[in-house]
Amino acid sequence: MSLDVTALRQQFPILKTQIDGKPLVYLDNAATTQKPQAVIDALVEFYTTCNANVHRGSHYLSDEATRRYEKARTTVASFIHANAKEEVIWTSGTTESLNIIAHGLAQQLQPGDEVLITEMEHHANLVTWQQACIKTGAKLVVIPINEAGELEVARFEAALNTQTRLVAFPHVSNALGTINPINELTAMAKKVGALVSIDGAQGIAHGGVDVQAIGCDFYSFSGHKLFGPTGIGCLWGRQQVLEDWPVWQTGGEMIADVEYQNTTFGALPNRLEAGTPNIAGAIGMAAAIDWFAALDQHAIQTHEKALLARANELAADMPGMRLIGTAKHKVGIMSFLLDGTHPADIGFILDRQGIAIRTGDNCAQPLMKRLKIPGTARASFSIYNTIEEVEAFFNALKKAQTMLA
Ligand SMILES: *Cc1c(COP(=O)(O)O)cnc(C)c1O
Repeated sequence: MSLDVTALRQQFPILKTQIDGKPLVYLDNAATTQKPQAVIDALVEFYTTCNANVHRGSHYLSDEATRRYEKARTTVASFIHANAKEEVIWTSGTTESLNIIAHGLAQQLQPGDEVLITEMEHHANLVTWQQACIKTGAKLVVIPINEAGELEVARFEAALNTQTRLVAFPHVSNALGTINPINELTAMAKKVGALVSIDGAQGIAHGGVDVQAIGCDFYSFSGHKLFGPTGIGCLWGRQQVLEDWPVWQTGGEMIADVEYQNTTFGALPNRLEAGTPNIAGAIGMAAAIDWFAALDQHAIQTHEKALLARANELAADMPGMRLIGTAKHKVGIMSFLLDGTHPADIGFILDRQGIAIRTGDNCAQPLMKRLKIPGTARASFSIYNTIEEVEAFFNALKKAQTMLA
């Protein structure tokens, strides 16, 4: 069965937006996805019918809020095939998840230890490990990519050794669209006993994440790139590893017993979740996952592939267009440069025509420097985009090219 994109689009109120009389063409999905009515309703419903603080257990609303909040955790746990819901830690997003991992591991890192990352990291997975290495004296090893934007897997394998404490890589690159062979990379890292942390900010929205099958130790993601709200995300980590770690932040909710001079901290997941959490966000994120998981996964994948294939076809016919990231396995992310133009000018002219793309360094400055480019223009497609929108994007690009010539 093919995807009914028209029906799908009707679930996203924002897609009806007109910009200067032109229909919005939203192609900035790698920055954040739009939200279906089901998610908007879940947020409104929570605040309208059961807003209260969680874990207080002192009245009806609090019990109801707690029930929904913990049910949301179970939804996330089963979506990614976690062993237990206690392994799902709520965070404000991928960035915070990665910082918690780095905070935990930094206590164990020493000079001589190595942390492996890749040339394609988002700043969130680069600066975080770079700073942890600076603090501890561990060595940050950066694995190169090839001209197509694929990780040099043989170089990755060769770099692994008994000093490798952790490897950290993205499931999918936000700048290049490359899908990394995460199972293979994880298996290689496990042979030398390293921990494996996967930045799933982009990968999660493409479905089928099974942390048990991958065999990694941590998988981090944000709600807002998965059709959910901003300000909420998850850190999934293996229970044995997370339990071992010092607490991240201190305060209410995360304690078992407090005296003036001493505190016994609580068990997972609360031990890593200090203070009043983003209750509505967690419920909204679970609504997004329920909504997403109910879609025909095969149909949405076929549709996404068709969007990228059409874009590639049109790009091949576009004089002076240089694609940045041409990996064999990639998602619907198209970063590019147009000869003789600056990405920011392209973005500006497209915006005048109602077309939203991203321009700049894609939160990956070292990668841009490595590719010797100032940045890119980036169109990123989601399941609600249409072939007609891809075509409108290229028509607008042609217009921009003429205007800027
Ligand atoms: C967006 C993104 C992040 C950061 O996610 P936040 O939601 O901003 O915390 C990290 N890595 C990748 C690959 C991303 O695309």
